[in-house]
Amino acid sequence: MIKFLDLKNINEPYGKDIENAIKRVVKSGWYILGKEVGAFEREYADYIGVGHTVGVGNGLDALRIILQAYMVMGEMEEGDEVIVPSNTFIASIMAITENRLKPVLVEPDIETYNIDPNQIEKKITGKTKAIMIVHLYGQNAHSQKIGKLCGKYDLKLVEDAAQAHGAYHEEKRIGSLGDAAAFSFYPGKNLGGMGDGGAICTNNFQFAECCRALSNYGGETKYKYKYKGFNSRLDEIQAAILRIKLKGLDADNRKRKEVANFYLQNISNPEVQLPKCKDEASHVWHLFVVRVKNRDEFIRHLKEEGVEASIHYPIAPNEQEGYPELHKCDLPITNQMHKEVVSLPISPVLDEKQLQKVVKAVGSYQTVEVKV
Ligand SMILES: *Cc1c(COP(=O)(O)O)cnc(C)c1O
Repeated sequence: MIKFLDLKNINEPYGKDIENAIKRVVKSGWYILGKEVGAFEREYADYIGVGHTVGVGNGLDALRIILQAYMVMGEMEEGDEVIVPSNTFIASIMAITENRLKPVLVEPDIETYNIDPNQIEKKITGKTKAIMIVHLYGQNAHSQKIGKLCGKYDLKLVEDAAQAHGAYHEEKRIGSLGDAAAFSFYPGKNLGGMGDGGAICTNNFQFAECCRALSNYGGETKYKYKYKGFNSRLDEIQAAILRIKLKGLDADNRKRKEVANFYLQNISNPEVQLPKCKDEASHVWHLFVVRVKNRDEFIRHLKEEGVEASIHYPIAPNEQEGYPELHKCDLPITNQMHKEVVSLPISPVLDEKQLQKVVKAVGSYQTVEVKV
């Protein structure tokens, strides 16, 4: 069986280096906010091409703290609106509602699965304060059009970059495109740790320091609390692991691209819609998502052929039980998409034989004819 996500194999090439790094931290006697976090923050800021990185506990908190920082700095207030794609992972929306801001859902472009820039302007009101773009499945979601809207209406551009470490928009890396960006280092992400982790990237020093304070009880100095913050820090062991894996990120992303290109060139089945990639550098293929009409049947077929698939995501945010306020949204593309998407295995460590097997499994799928 080809696993959907084989973290053991993905981390195998880094094994010895990671063990040594962990030993170094254990021996140092310093486990929270020390040298490793400081070094990782500098290295990651350089990699992304921003002035500042702030390590935090996870990707959701990175987003949550960004919005909270705007609130404590007086740029946003309760009830203000944030534009967000309707087909994102729930964390993007949760970060907005957690801050008592209002998510305004915008449908994706079905070609890219990313927010449709042409549907944004009509959702902008006097209360809109930000556009949160999500680089879904690893593909850049930014565009000139979105940049212009932010300028025209004086909106913050916040990036949810949790799925797109290393991707580019034109000459710039994702995470450096707007006012602030959030990353997750959840183990399955393109840059994944061995536990939870996240980071905020920004070019604004004052904003970075505000985020740093919020993530550490709201204090810029110990025992003195400027804000009502909380505790969400990247730990030394995760930072040490991420420093090692960051060195291999570009190579890992290149291998993901090879896998994606292999699928794109070799999968041929009229019942299976392949994803579209506008230009090579803009996509780091966190996920390879196809669309099929009879999804359950398709997944069953793949399993019989020895291929494990997954779904990102089976239920749209506007249909989630925990979000009754979103149930009335009219989002036909989103609802359709969530019934059809299937994620095929993709990682830096799949070999040619495995790829052939996936191609064969997908290619041999046929909808069972319903006889009348
Ligand atoms: C993973 C993910 C997050 C949240 O990251 P965590 O570290 O799991 O909190 C946020 N947004 C998107 C798009 C993600 O894929």
